[in-house]
Amino acid sequence: MRTRFAPSPTGPLHLGHAYAAIFAHDLAMAERGEFLLRIEDIDQARARPDWEQAIYDDLEWLGLIWEKPAMRQSDRLPAYRTALDQLWRQDLLYPCTCTRRDISDALSAPQDAVPPGPDGPVYPGTCRHKDWPEFDRRANSKLPRPETHALRLSMGLAATRMTEQCIMEPSTPWRRPAGFQETGHGPHGEHGWIESPDQTLTTAIGDVVLSRRDMGTSYHLAVVVDDAAQGITHVTRGEDLFEATRIHVVLQKLLGLPTPSYHHHRLIRDDLGKRLAKRDDARALSKYRTEGATPADIRRMVGL
Ligand code: GLU
Ligand code: ZN
Repeated sequence: MRTRFAPSPTGPLHLGHAYAAIFAHDLAMAERGEFLLRIEDIDQARARPDWEQAIYDDLEWLGLIWEKPAMRQSDRLPAYRTALDQLWRQDLLYPCTCTRRDISDALSAPQDAVPPGPDGPVYPGTCRHKDWPEFDRRANSKLPRPETHALRLSMGLAATRMTEQCIMEPSTPWRRPAGFQETGHGPHGEHGWIESPDQTLTTAIGDVVLSRRDMGTSYHLAVVVDDAAQGITHVTRGEDLFEATRIHVVLQKLLGLPTPSYHHHRLIRDDLGKRLAKRDDARALSKYRTEGATPADIRRMVGL
């Protein structure tokens, strides 16, 4: 068993992070497995080296042990480009130049009022059928440069491809395309084998961005490529990421990567029931530490 904790160095770790890290660590230790750390710093505008150092300090203090050095996503851009190229050559990506404003304008028609997906408003598909003379894919063109165009996944096409794969390979270990084993629970108590019907993928999630212009990748792509590269067998994380897992499983299928099992867990909330955010410095682990709390106190506070 291999688990991981994958924080972003964009602020102090708080009790919610402590819960997630200890949970993943203890699960691996109970099975004599391994616990890995991954620094998710693709958002270079927000990531800071001192926050990264603070992550190491906090986790050491908590008594967690991981294989060093930790993987850092900012070192992995070539791996993300390789994955994007693989999808591009399958014709599953298209360039998009829409601004947030373009998208909200296109969605303002009342019949388009779809509830937001895991990435916010479901993309209306504006750029899907645009002609891009500079990227004639039949001419086997190269992947667009990261800075010039965002790249979106054609979710409808992806769903069709996965169904075809299942028909062609009936011995496939997945009962249906894009399913995963949930050993924890989603926000509505989802548990067990979770399927994502094509309808859910196309209308509730849609054409998500896989390469942002400012990053050359995206959270969804990076997390999938890296969980596979680190050989993670059990992904444990907050239940707020449950819906995003549907996207991750689609990407695993399209890239030919294994699907780990998933354990989504509860979120640590403040006294008012609001989930903790990075800006809740008041609950930063380092603050408890300087006030004299012990790692055992932290475990008690998060109920572990
Ligand atoms: N880096 C993500 C976060 O801090 C976690 C991603 C994950 O566990 O999949 O929210
Ligand atoms: Zn667009």
